[in-house]
Amino acid sequence: MIPIECPKCGRGGSVPPDRLNARLVCKACHTVFHLDNTGRMVLGEPESFDMKTNKSRADEVSSLADFDLAQTWNDIPAAMKYGVPGVLLAVILYLNFGSMISSGKAEHENRAEAILKSVISNNKSKFVAFATPDSAESAESLFDLLHGDVEKGQFGSDALISPQLFNGAPEKDSDLTMLVVVSKNGGTEGPMTVTIPLKKGSSGDWLLDATSALTAAQSAATPKKK
Ligand SMILES: [Zn+2]
Repeated sequence: MIPIECPKCGRGGSVPPDRLNARLVCKACHTVFHLDNTGRMVLGEPESFDMKTNKSRADEVSSLADFDLAQTWNDIPAAMKYGVPGVLLAVILYLNFGSMISSGKAEHENRAEAILKSVISNNKSKFVAFATPDSAESAESLFDLLHGDVEKGQFGSDALISPQLFNGAPEKDSDLTMLVVVSKNGGTEGPMTVTIPLKKGSSGDWLLDATSALTAAQSAATPKKK
């Protein structure tokens, strides 16, 4: 959130960084103002107040990386303080949320990808660190098994890793099952699919449940050996 002050009466508040060039109205004195592309407060109407221009501002928004982009729904009431066209603002927020969600990967997806990357880069200690404390031992065996498959399939650092949610709801469940497809860059030949069960750790991180993963990997490996 960007902390702002009404340029006329000085009343304080904050707006999400994607409110650049959006029309803001002070609740105290009803002064119309806006944040320009550089994040400066300017009295009066924004140059263009429509969703089309609001959407094509990826550049300006990313130049504001210092600000907290990880805005949550809980922050919306604060933004509403200055957002008199409340319904419209909510619509814009929703649209921006939509694009944020589809452009960035969720935490559980990032974690599943990082787990596979540690296998491909042959970093066993990193892999084990991703596992729940009580499954660390299984994590070592699992790593050896997966790394064997990675070597057999000759997956390198340019392999494409696509994590998919297979089971569970990341927002409410503490257990998820991810299916991660690892394929060679530029080819569909011999992709490997790895089941990655994740458990929410005490710090809210997604951790690898290596005991379940090892069981799944062993049962998946068995038919291949015939
Ligand atoms: Zn004011």
